[in-house]
Amino acid sequence: MFGSHLSIAGSMLNALDDARRLGFDTVQVFTKNQQQWKAKPLDPGLVKDWHARTAELGFDRGGPKDARGRHRGGITSHASYLINLAAPADALWRQSIDLMTDEIERCEQLGIPFLVHHPGAFTTSSLDEGLRRIADAYAELFSRTKGYATVSCLEGTVGAGSQIGGPFEELARLRSLIIEKTGQPDRVGFCLDTCHVHAAGYDLSSAASAKAALSRFDELCGLLHVRVWHINDSKGAAGSHLDRHDHIGHGTIGGPAASLTRDRLLDSGFGTVVNHPAFAHVPKHLETPKEDAPDGRAWDSINVARLRSLRPGEESQWPAPPKVIEAPKTPARTGKSGGKPGKPSGTGVRRKEGSGTSRTPTKVQQSKPKAGSGRRKPRRGN
Ligand SMILES: [Zn+2]
Ligand SMILES: [Zn+2]
Repeated sequence: MFGSHLSIAGSMLNALDDARRLGFDTVQVFTKNQQQWKAKPLDPGLVKDWHARTAELGFDRGGPKDARGRHRGGITSHASYLINLAAPADALWRQSIDLMTDEIERCEQLGIPFLVHHPGAFTTSSLDEGLRRIADAYAELFSRTKGYATVSCLEGTVGAGSQIGGPFEELARLRSLIIEKTGQPDRVGFCLDTCHVHAAGYDLSSAASAKAALSRFDELCGLLHVRVWHINDSKGAAGSHLDRHDHIGHGTIGGPAASLTRDRLLDSGFGTVVNHPAFAHVPKHLETPKEDAPDGRAWDSINVARLRSLRPGEESQWPAPPKVIEAPKTPARTGKSGGKPGKPSGTGVRRKEGSGTSRTPTKVQQSKPKAGSGRRKPRRGN
């Protein structure tokens, strides 16, 4: 089940239409402007249309279990980056619980089975304090939303600064604490992100190391609790704690791009995750840069085709490499280039209009770490 984080600019239905156009099986969205604390309630007409459209696309079937044990597809909502359930300051913590409540409510109305959020950053307190804070927040969230079906998924992070959720041990402790406080194991799962796992220190650049990482995760957290994958290559090296996403096969997991082959991807964490039986029905969403390749194809299509082709018997889906168009040589400043009317530099390729990727989401792939942000500085990733 492959999808991508797609923009809801204009209407949430646009994300569904774009997913259809790109040939996806599912989609990830924000259910509101993710940079705002307050959102207008969902319009009942939109909710009705959303349900109709997801049913029409078949996006409401299959996938992992929701909190009531039903398989309602793989549509995933990504919670706002403003939320920090680990915040030591009461005002921010309260505000985060209110916004997270709204996120859960919206998912419930839209029939979205999975809500991914970053565990949080403990900032001026401690890891233990931060974990306790998140679990306390969950106790309140679940008592406000009794009986809801949406599974909240703790996303593994790169573990930068005081950000919680890099080491698998932290994810395991966190889920256990939440279950202890709420008594509701079915409502809390995990989301893993290939870029984050790798940058957190679990090397995914070979199938062997990826298998080792996954068995470690299984021992500590349980693979069956992974409800969502984010599939991104990583610009930063394994253990770099850098949260920078790259196209599949262009980063330090599946790259280098210059010599990319299907076999190379197969022998990386991508092959391991795509073909792992535990994830056969788990939605796998791209959060890679939304742009068009030099030959006009949407990168989302190329990235998904690369992933799909890794499955046995689907080798033929391996997409043609995007034609690399040489950057025009910078003409000399003054008239020397004379004869040939070269293309003006920087306009070699026209963006395809209406390719469905022009309404790009997002902060998701645009949050760039400051150079040298390193381990100590908390920052938001995806
Ligand atoms: Zn990220
Ligand atoms: Zn992610």
